[in-house]
Amino acid sequence: MGRQPLWRRVSFMPQITYFKPAGIPLTHLQEVCLSVEEAEAIRLKDLEGLEQEECAQKMNISRTTFARVLGSARQKMADALLGGKAIRIEGGNFEMAVRRFRCINGHEWDVPFETMVSAPPQFCPACKTGSIMSLWPPGLGWGRGGRGRHRRGGRGW
Ligand SMILES: [Zn+2]
Repeated sequence: MGRQPLWRRVSFMPQITYFKPAGIPLTHLQEVCLSVEEAEAIRLKDLEGLEQEECAQKMNISRTTFARVLGSARQKMADALLGGKAIRIEGGNFEMAVRRFRCINGHEWDVPFETMVSAPPQFCPACKTGSIMSLWPPGLGWGRGGRGRHRRGGRGW
C-alpha cells in the first residue's frame, strides 16, 4: 500500500521571508504565516501566470489541492495587506524540486528530487571527489533531512 506523499513540490525558495507593515508598533503587530508551498502557488499562478493544471503538475499535487493551497495563500495575503499584518513565509509540507550541491573544488550541480530520494549524490560528477555539500536551499545540510516541516515557533526548515 503506497502512502501518498504529503509534501508538495517547490522549486523556488524566497530569500526574503518576512514582511512588515511600516509604522505599526511591534506590540500591536499581528502576523500571517504563509507556508512555502502557498508562496510557491502564488508564484506559479500569479507571477508566472501558468494554468492551474500546470501549477498542480509542477507541485506534484492534484488540481483540487492546488486550488485550495492557492486560495488559502491569497486569503492570507489579502488579510495581511488589508489588515496591516506582517507576513512570515516558513514551513509547510514541501520538498524542493532540486537540491544544489558543490564539491570542494568548486563544481556545482543540481540534483533532482527523485534522485535525492533514490540515490543521493556521493561524488562530484565532474572531479569525482567525495567532499561535497548541499548548498541550496539554504539551511538544509546533510543529516537534517530535506523535508520542510511546519514547526511552530521554529525556523520552519
Ligand atoms: Zn568537483
